[in-house]
Amino acid sequence: ASRLVDEYLQARPDGGWTDPDTCAALLDCYGVAQVPWAWAHNESDAVFAARRFRGGQGAAVLKAYWPGLVHKSEEHAVRLDLRDDAAVTDAYRDVAERFRGKLTGVLVQPMARGGVELFAGVVQDAVFGPLVMFGLGGTATEVLADHAARLAPLTDQDVTELVGAPRCAPLLLGHRGAAPVDLEGLRQLLARLSRMAGDLPQLAEADLNPVIARPDGIDIVDVRVRLA
Ligand code: ADP
Ligand code: MG
Repeated sequence: ASRLVDEYLQARPDGGWTDPDTCAALLDCYGVAQVPWAWAHNESDAVFAARRFRGGQGAAVLKAYWPGLVHKSEEHAVRLDLRDDAAVTDAYRDVAERFRGKLTGVLVQPMARGGVELFAGVVQDAVFGPLVMFGLGGTATEVLADHAARLAPLTDQDVTELVGAPRCAPLLLGHRGAAPVDLEGLRQLLARLSRMAGDLPQLAEADLNPVIARPDGIDIVDVRVRLA
């Protein structure tokens, strides 16, 4: 991971938000797996990748990417719930047209099944150093500001407390008869982010949002990492 960071900062001494490949490579070093994804640079790439990820009956997602893009949905760069080849083709054409000239490529992912949308991340505090954050995610993150933080490195007890700390925590434990979500998966994720934060002082910010939590596991569908 340190080597990856050094190479990245050598190429871009100012740092900044890393590209999706660098993000994924860094998280891989700590065993943090996103949902599978692939680059598409033309319609048929997109259709093939989407078929692969949709499986029998699922849907696919396309996300346009260019350097400097941070809030994808605000830019209309995210196309959800694409259920067949025609929907994928239309969505690809639309983003290729709309973002012509700046597009690096389009990310193709499986559409995660419903669950609780959470946020997990790392920020550097000027005084305390790295904090691991956890809370309610999705597009409501900023509005509701329901998150909690612990100083890295997190002990096992910190991790357990952090999972229970946001106001939304009762939703995770089985709200109104629903089964509890994969709390062990969430604890493992926070512990891994803590290790990453401890190892990499150049990690300015890591933002995993949403992490979609269900009883049968967690799906990390959006990740960004800023180095400085
Ligand atoms: P950004 O945060 O940059 O706007 P995201 O990749 O988080 O872009 O996508 C915006 C929203 O779309 C997410 O908060 C989530 O609700 C939904 N979404 C994105 N990717 C998926 C996916 N693979 N499966 C299900 N929902 C998704
Ligand atoms: Mg997001």
